[in-house]
Amino acid sequence: PEGSSAFAYEAEVNKMLDIVINSLYTNKDIFLRELISNASDALDKIRFLSVTKPELLGDTPNLEMKIEYDPDAKTLTIRDTGLGMTKDDLIKNLGTVARSGTTNFMKALKESETNDISQIGMFGVGFYSTFLVADRVSVASKHNDDDTQNVWESLNGESSFHVGPDPRGNTLGRGTEITLHLKEDAEEYLSPYKLKEMIGHYSEFVTHPVSLRQIKTIQVPKEKDEFDEEEEEKKEDGDDIEVSDEDEAEEKEPEMEEVTTYEYEQINTDPAIWARDKDGITDEEYQEFWKVVSKGDSAGDAEDWTHFNAEGNINFKSILYVPSEVPFALQSGNIEMMKPGLRLYVRKVLISDEFDLMPRYLNFIKGVVDSDDLPLNVNRETLQESKIVKIIKKKLVRKALELIRKMSQQEMPADDEADEAEVDADGNVIVKDDADKKPKIHPYITWYKKFGLSLKMGCIDDSANKDKLQKLLRFKSSKADGEDEFVSLQEYVDRMKEWQKEIYVFPGESIKQLSESSFMDAFNDRDVEVLYLTDSIDEYFIGNVREFNGVKFRDITKEGVKFSDEDEDLAKRRNKVYADKFSPLTKYLKKLYGADVSRVAISKRLGRAPAIVSSTEWGNSANMDRIMRAQAF
Ligand code: ADP
Ligand code: MG
Repeated sequence: PEGSSAFAYEAEVNKMLDIVINSLYTNKDIFLRELISNASDALDKIRFLSVTKPELLGDTPNLEMKIEYDPDAKTLTIRDTGLGMTKDDLIKNLGTVARSGTTNFMKALKESETNDISQIGMFGVGFYSTFLVADRVSVASKHNDDDTQNVWESLNGESSFHVGPDPRGNTLGRGTEITLHLKEDAEEYLSPYKLKEMIGHYSEFVTHPVSLRQIKTIQVPKEKDEFDEEEEEKKEDGDDIEVSDEDEAEEKEPEMEEVTTYEYEQINTDPAIWARDKDGITDEEYQEFWKVVSKGDSAGDAEDWTHFNAEGNINFKSILYVPSEVPFALQSGNIEMMKPGLRLYVRKVLISDEFDLMPRYLNFIKGVVDSDDLPLNVNRETLQESKIVKIIKKKLVRKALELIRKMSQQEMPADDEADEAEVDADGNVIVKDDADKKPKIHPYITWYKKFGLSLKMGCIDDSANKDKLQKLLRFKSSKADGEDEFVSLQEYVDRMKEWQKEIYVFPGESIKQLSESSFMDAFNDRDVEVLYLTDSIDEYFIGNVREFNGVKFRDITKEGVKFSDEDEDLAKRRNKVYADKFSPLTKYLKKLYGADVSRVAISKRLGRAPAIVSSTEWGNSANMDRIMRAQAF
């Protein structure tokens, strides 16, 4: 447009646009998801700001999104009454400032052979997905801080874009209008059916009304020209008293004609799923909402969820989800990278979609919290520190742990296959060899294998909930060393020997190494179970947590293991006999090893091994030394 200037795209943005434009990626629908999500963000922003400054809403008080299509011009338009962008914003946000995700997005595209552009939103460059379907995009925007409504415009394939005042003047009041001039192969997006379905899908949980402008043709009385009207009047005047038969009456009915009008239809009704009665919500709806709150930061469905109304001094509604797959940020092993995952609404105003409402070890929990009891007119930092938020946090942790406990105690899901007997060609039921059947794994074990580490961290970090957390832990042991066999601490304690006073644990590198170790002989001989600890965090865990329900952990590689399964007196006397008998050997060995060992003793802990080297009770275990050595390099 006149008075506009050209700006070159930042180099990385340009490269990325090239990739998007030339991609053969077929799921182009996602452009609409990105535009709806941007409009929703902009609406959230103005709503948040207007809480303290209602005057910001000015002459455009309705916060909404409107979508229009024009089959003749082949355009699709998405308009919102959100925050809008100043001229400067348009230039920076849509082209000249490289966003941190640009490079990462291109890297991810290169690495994934599927060329999966659908992840574009995760990298903070979702807007550019419009070029999947449009060869010309224009963005008109009006921000309160800019007197002028400006237009950003870009042609597909050009390395620059234009920004200037909108020749139409201020048509928006406030907000943003994005017009896509659709490519020839993208004209399916002019179909009202297709659009309605897509908008329904992507706006289901948007908390602002999203409407589609439907084209409607209606019948209206045909307008007559003046001459006809006069004729008619004359006729009427003259034929006043004439009684007409039916045929004539029909002729007199006004002639109709078709005209085109428009009608807005709101597509997303009742978006606040958490405010609805949970009995009326299907699992599919919960999984759809999971996709919204998890923002794609972990693969897979939600493993489980809890939907509740907290009532009392502080009231709030919440849905908490446990993911089935480890979030990408956690997979990298860097727990610091994991962002808090709860959306906090106060009176339907989104305060933040990454509000810190969970302790670090539970950051994989995603969901929504909506409370009317929080003050709206304070900043996020003050809110974060408020007493009410602390109370909400406590309650949420309790609910999250309860959810995981329920997961751990759920019944084994019914075996679908088992119900259907297989029949051979002669009609005989095939009896399957039991050995052929894969042993069934409890869903909690499958989940625990991925998330157990976080729960162990919790035992260390969250002493208030230590007891609850310990009940959720599962361990490998000398009596449960199969791939999917695990034992809980309670189960271990339940099968302890009558004389046994401690939980025996054996830290090391691998199950194989531990189960074959000489340390195990004495325990296996006495049929005493030993927990195998192979997570690197395990020893910190044992050192920190020390006991379960009053039963202490005892590292079997350290001294102090006592098998009190025999008469104390007898044991003492026998010990004395052995000590005397072997004193020349122990003296000789002590002399031989000198300062390298602190003590040489006669031990009952040996099975088939003639001797073992153990650690002192309070020193590092050999395994801890190994871990520390590994970290030093
Ligand atoms: P992201 O949404 O992850 O920030 P996008 O590429 O989708 O990345 O959008 C880039 C930026 O452009 C946004 O951060 C926002 O500042 C601005 N923007 C895009 N669409 C709108 C809109 N409808 N209203 C206001 N600002 C917008
Ligand atoms: Mg976006």
